[in-house]
Amino acid sequence: MKAALVGADGELLHQARRSTGRERGPDSVVESILAFAADLRAHGEDHFGEPAAAAGVAVPGIVDADRGIAAYAANLGWRDVPLRNLLSERLDGVPVALGHDVRTGGLAEGRIGAGRGADRFLFVPLGTGIAGAIGIDGRVEAGAHGFAGEIGHVVVRPGGAPCPCGQHGCLERYASAAAVSEAWARATGDRDADAADCAKAVESGDARARAVWQDAVDALADGLVTALTLLDPRVLIIGGGLAEAGETLFTPLRAAVERRVTFQKLPSIVPAALGDTAGCLGAGLLAWDLLATPTHPASEVSA
Ligand SMILES: [Zn+2]
Repeated sequence: MKAALVGADGELLHQARRSTGRERGPDSVVESILAFAADLRAHGEDHFGEPAAAAGVAVPGIVDADRGIAAYAANLGWRDVPLRNLLSERLDGVPVALGHDVRTGGLAEGRIGAGRGADRFLFVPLGTGIAGAIGIDGRVEAGAHGFAGEIGHVVVRPGGAPCPCGQHGCLERYASAAAVSEAWARATGDRDADAADCAKAVESGDARARAVWQDAVDALADGLVTALTLLDPRVLIIGGGLAEAGETLFTPLRAAVERRVTFQKLPSIVPAALGDTAGCLGAGLLAWDLLATPTHPASEVSA
């Protein structure tokens, strides 16, 4: 878990990391979060003369932000955890915002990171999987059921590789850091070879690596062109482990997207700027948003 005290302009005042305690079960993770938040509150009192005025928390899985409930997170074993109320109780009634991890990270990239000032952006982290955050005028679209932005499960290779989501040929089966690692391990016969190794081999001119890499870039471009045809973003922010390859990824990716568009406007395609602190900073922004909009339902918790 990453946590921070965040100032009004998104400035990072204090940062800390801690284990979730996941191996001790779902309730233990909740307790770890509550204890971490309480310690942060104490840190604020000790070092800044006052505790945080509001709190934000971003969690994976399916999030019902309006009700403040972490509805489902397979990797944490959570179902319907009323995280907003639990946190507010532990923090003496301050307002608490709950967000989805990728959308919250996207909020931070859009407002204070790589998309700073962009009125329309799409944030796509390429990690173990691929997700997306659709930024519209300073907020991130969650969709009617909290599922918006799942570009990793856009089918780019019909009839292709099976995906745990139940479909075949999903983007994340071809262009996630995990998929590139798998493909490169297969190509080299080295089970420990990963996407970063593949990027290095591309840079040194290895033909097999270039083929593996280009397959991923082509799949990614196919998925992104679908997204930009629908959304017309001004900025396309690519993050996650695969984006750490820098221009080894961005140069061929920009070319592949450019080759595919016809009538669509090309967005600028840029690397994410906030790294793995994006979600943490975004949670801070959500908290500040609560203070700016006192009519938000979450503020009822503090009454
Ligand atoms: Zn899928």
